[in-house]
Amino acid sequence: MSEMPGLVEHVTCLGCGCSCDDIVVAVRDGRIAEARSACPLGSAWFGDGSVPTDIRVRGAAVSIDAALDAAATMLDEARRTLVFLSIDTSCETQRAAVAVADTLRAVVDGVSSSSVASGILAAQRRGRVGATLGEIRNRADCIVFWGTDPAARYPRYASRYAPEPAGLFVPDGRRSRTLVSVDVGDARGPRDADLRLGIPVDRELGAIAALRASLAGRSLGEHPLAGLADLSRTLAAARYVAIIYDAEPGALPPEPGRAESLMALGLELNATTRACVMPLRAGGNRLGAEAVLTWQTGYPMSVDFSRGHPRYRPDEGARALVAAGAVDAVLVVGRPLGLPFAIDAARTVVVGPAATAAACAIAIDTGVAGIHEGGTAFRMDDVPLPLRAPVPGPRVAADVVRDLAQRIAARRARRS
Ligand code: SF4
Repeated sequence: MSEMPGLVEHVTCLGCGCSCDDIVVAVRDGRIAEARSACPLGSAWFGDGSVPTDIRVRGAAVSIDAALDAAATMLDEARRTLVFLSIDTSCETQRAAVAVADTLRAVVDGVSSSSVASGILAAQRRGRVGATLGEIRNRADCIVFWGTDPAARYPRYASRYAPEPAGLFVPDGRRSRTLVSVDVGDARGPRDADLRLGIPVDRELGAIAALRASLAGRSLGEHPLAGLADLSRTLAAARYVAIIYDAEPGALPPEPGRAESLMALGLELNATTRACVMPLRAGGNRLGAEAVLTWQTGYPMSVDFSRGHPRYRPDEGARALVAAGAVDAVLVVGRPLGLPFAIDAARTVVVGPAATAAACAIAIDTGVAGIHEGGTAFRMDDVPLPLRAPVPGPRVAADVVRDLAQRIAARRARRS
C-alpha cells in the first residue's frame, strides 16, 4: 500500500521500551509536524526531528576526515580504552562499535551495567521466566504490576499489551483479566486494580518468599501482611500470570534482590500454572546493545577484549573503570546523555546524536536511530523491530563508526 505524501507510516518510536511500531509521522518542510498515535512521551522523543549536525575537535569545527583521523589516533595510542554503547543508536551502529573495541582490545560496556545489572545476573543464575509482549497480550488472564504503574513511564503499555487489549485467550480484554497491584512503599500500581496489596519496602523480599512458600503448599498462618493469602489464591487460580516490574531506576527504591526473587516466584508458579516475569525497560534501543554484545561476544555487558578474546567482567563496568582511573580514553557511541560516569573532556570521543553538546575532545553529530536512520532496534521483550527514518538527518552513525574502525585497523596494520 502506498503512503500518502508527507506521511510516513509504521514508524517505530524508541521513546520507551514499548517500541510502538504503529506511529504515523507527518512531515512538512523536512521537519516532523506530528507523530500520530504517539503518547506525549513519544511525541517529545520525536520532537520536530531537528538535531545538531556539527563536527568538532577540541571545540573547533573540522571536516569528518580530520575528526576521524584525530579520533583514530587518540584511541589507538591509548593504553586502555572504554567503548561505551549509549542510547539512540541502531544495532548496526552498536555492532560497528563492538568491532572497534575488538580491534583496540578495549572494554566495551553499555547503560545496562549501571542500571539493570542485578536483573541480568539473576537471569543468568536462575534462567529467565520470559515471554513476548504478544504472548502476554494474548494469554495472560492475571496481570500483576509489582510496584509500578506503567502509565507513568510506559504510557501505551496498558493499551497495546496488557491489561486492556483483547487477546486470543482473553477475548474480553480488561474484563477477561484480573488486574493486581502490589504497592511497594510509595510505588503504587494502577488505580483500577481488582486486587491491591501494600508491602513496606523493607518487607518486600520476605513477602515474595512467603508467597512462594504458600504456592508450594505451605500455610501462611497468621501472616502479618493482610491480603497476602488472597494474592496467593489469585495467582494459583490463574491460567497465565504476568508479573511486571520496572527494571529501570525510578520510583521504586532499588532492591538488588527484587529481580531474582520475582524470577523465583515465576518459576514457582510454573510448577502449577503458566507465568512469566517481565521487566519494563526504557527506550533508546538499550536492549539492542545487550543483544548485539551477546551475539558478538557471548555476554550482554561489561566485556573486556584486553587478552584478545572476550571476557565477562560484570564487576568492572564502565562506571567502576572510569572511577578507578583504569582507562585513559573513552569512545561513547550514542547520545551523550545519562552516562554513568563523568566525561573527561581531554580523553573522550563521542559519536552520536547531539555529540557536540558534550564537553569532549572530539565530537561527531549523527542522526537518531528511528528518526533519521533506519536499521534494527530491540523492544523490551527482546523482539527485534525494523526502524524507519521519516526525516533526513546528518551523517549515519554506523557509517561513521565503521570508518573509524577502518582507520584504527589501518594504523595498526602499518605498524605490524
Ligand atoms: S509508549 Fe513508549 S514507545 Fe509507545 S509512543 Fe509512548 S514513548 Fe513511544
